Amino acid sequence: MNPYWLTFAESVCSTARMMDRLGLTAGTSGNISMRVPGQSYAVITPSGMPYQSLTPNDMTVIDLAGQQVAGIHPASSETPLHAHLYSVFESIHAVVHTHSLYATAFSVVRKPIPLVSLEGLGVNSLNVPVAEYALPGTSDLAISAELALRSNPGVQAILLPNHGLVTIGAALEDAFSLAINVEREAQILAIASSLGTPVQLTAAQLSQINATYAAMHAKTA
Ligand SMILES: [Zn+2]
Repeated sequence: MNPYWLTFAESVCSTARMMDRLGLTAGTSGNISMRVPGQSYAVITPSGMPYQSLTPNDMTVIDLAGQQVAGIHPASSETPLHAHLYSVFESIHAVVHTHSLYATAFSVVRKPIPLVSLEGLGVNSLNVPVAEYALPGTSDLAISAELALRSNPGVQAILLPNHGLVTIGAALEDAFSLAINVEREAQILAIASSLGTPVQLTAAQLSQINATYAAMHAKTA
């Protein structure tokens, strides 16, 4: 792998290992990628390898048509999903896909995850919507993810039915921290549902919270 790609392979590798350490995935499920800045390529995790032994050199590089162009292992089985999202949305620079427990449970009942706490602010919507069902690893799944993002403009996370979560971002850290936060939001909601009826934040309350946080950041910047 060339030294330029290796820099980004290091970020993808350390994020994948962290995903595993934080329990956002089990076994070899889930995958992570980031767009190579200034090029029509993306670095993506390899298929079916245990996360804890991964090194940057195990990462693979794909073009935006989903063809593998570098790497000593086969690229992730969800390469069509990642490549397609980069090719149709210029604003997406990172994609994180997990099978995290609570988010996946919502995907199984095919219910959007409504925002009930501050964890989900980065979703940029009132809930995490559910895409149409499609077979894992196929271009049909990639299209269903695209359509879910298009029908919910600005949303940064979607559920794949009976499968898991996809988060996107302008940077790898954004997509990854959102995957953590959506999982926690789903967990809070599941616990809250056993205590009573969760009250969803309204659009007005969410924009008020966002405005307050933006003002705080402006002061400390
Ligand atoms: Zn998956």
